[in-house]
Amino acid sequence: MIQVTLISHTEDPIRSLYMAYRTCYSQLTPQQVFARIDDERITREQMTGFIEERLKTGHSSPLEQVWFEFIISGVSRAFSHQFVRHRVGISFEQQSQRYVTYKEGEFPYTVPETVRKAGMEPKMAELFDRVSELYEEMVAAGVPAEDARFLLPNATNTNFKVTVNFQSLLHIADLRLCTRAQWEFRKVTALMRAEVMRTVPELGKYLQPKCGEYRMGYCDESEADWAACPIGRIRPHKDALFRLYDAHRKGELAPLRQEDWDVIEEKEPTTAADD
Ligand SMILES: Cc1cc2nc3c(=O)[nH]c(=O)nc-3n(C[C@H](O)[C@H](O)[C@H](O)COP(=O)(O)OP(=O)(O)OC[C@H]3O[C@@H](n4cnc5c(N)ncnc54)[C@H](O)[C@@H]3O)c2cc1C
Repeated sequence: MIQVTLISHTEDPIRSLYMAYRTCYSQLTPQQVFARIDDERITREQMTGFIEERLKTGHSSPLEQVWFEFIISGVSRAFSHQFVRHRVGISFEQQSQRYVTYKEGEFPYTVPETVRKAGMEPKMAELFDRVSELYEEMVAAGVPAEDARFLLPNATNTNFKVTVNFQSLLHIADLRLCTRAQWEFRKVTALMRAEVMRTVPELGKYLQPKCGEYRMGYCDESEADWAACPIGRIRPHKDALFRLYDAHRKGELAPLRQEDWDVIEEKEPTTAADD
């Protein structure tokens, strides 16, 4: 079973992120800003509001100053190979197949739901039992674990300890909460998000697929993939937005009605009396 636990994070991530952004935009010294946070002249709500405004911009380097520490277990090597492709803002430690020898050749593994549904799990187990036997035989014959592991399948489970900064975690969520990502990666990322939501919901809510309302807001995958995606019913495709924009520039669109502007500006709809 996949388990993801957030074991620690930057002390007071909201204050840390606020300090990072405020230092860029304030005449005050960071020490003065820090003192105002300390004596509550700057409230939590003000810090959160300020961060929310900055997160609407492209100023992203302050996000690198906040980090999260996760332990992850029961994931397959098929997943881990994709996970470690992320190169920036994330550090990995992974269970070794060189230094860990599976006792009696028994290795834990993941069975995808599709395999289960196709009724193929017993055949998979049968094959892996044979792999186990041969692994054990090789180890007993003096083959080191680092070589006996050549027998092991992608399904073999592994464990991680990772530290990832918020900027990198947002990027991972952008890609791996997208329905185009592989199911196991989507699951792990969703569990990471749930852990951040549990402890820092003000930041956790930004962990969305890239089409989410707090991220790009539109889909940049192929239109065919967009059409096949359930989230595509809610989020627009990039090409559709450009088509709309071109039509708007050519004056082919009817002007927006007041009710439409009210929705765009997130106001209460204008009542007849107001008119
Ligand atoms: C749906 C999906 C399908 C995929 N299919 C395949 C596949 O078939 N084969 C395959 O090999 N991989 C595949 N990948 C993995 C993909 O190619 C990347 O390796 C993976 O997404 C991690 O890289 P990244 O750039 O997204 O993130 P990171 O490595 O975490 O980097 C984050 C960002 O930092 C910047 N950056 C990082 N390194 C550099 C650099 N050297 N120079 C300049 N900027 C940099 C980029 O903006 C990058 O997006 C797939 C990924 C997804 C999401």
